[in-house]
Amino acid sequence: MALEQLLILIKPDGVKKSLTGNILTKLSEARMVIIGAKAVKVSAELAQKHYFQLKDKPFFAELSDYIQGKIYGEPWDRVLAFVYQGEDAIARMRKIAGATNPEEADPVSIRGAYGRITTKGVYENVVHCSSDVKEAEREIKLWFKPDELVKEIYPTKKVKEIKEDRVWA
Ligand code: UDP
Ligand code: MG
Repeated sequence: MALEQLLILIKPDGVKKSLTGNILTKLSEARMVIIGAKAVKVSAELAQKHYFQLKDKPFFAELSDYIQGKIYGEPWDRVLAFVYQGEDAIARMRKIAGATNPEEADPVSIRGAYGRITTKGVYENVVHCSSDVKEAEREIKLWFKPDELVKEIYPTKKVKEIKEDRVWA
């Protein structure tokens, strides 16, 4: 058994279908803890970085639009991002999420219960779930800054940055 962490995203279709509560309830069956959580408007750059391994696939442009929520528009063009931690978290959470193709996913998994395939062939499968330890580390570092997590999970360093910051007026 290994203590692992992973990135979970409730994708824009999950947000639009008002599934946030159902998804978090299903995930909570695994008794993992949330160590980071936020709502994110996904930029084209973040979408492409997140799915860079799939950049040569014929559906890459549609996938990038999907994770940005472009097809839904305001107020659904966002995702909810979570970092979960627990024993064997990746395999256990992926089991609850279900197979990538919602038609093949276990019907009581999140993707099996709530996913669909669009007429363009994109798997709208409601959640993203990191698939191994290396991918989880890359994705968590892409989506979260160290101070956005309530626990130290990877080494950090201090840098002096001179930049304008936005504060409440
Ligand atoms: N995807 C798709 N068609 C495919 C394969 C993947 O639309 O034939 C989408 C789907 O939304 C999936 C995402 O691309 O969740 C990332 O694919 P990956 O193979 O990494 O599957 P996952 O790790 O999400 O199960
Ligand atoms: Mg994947």
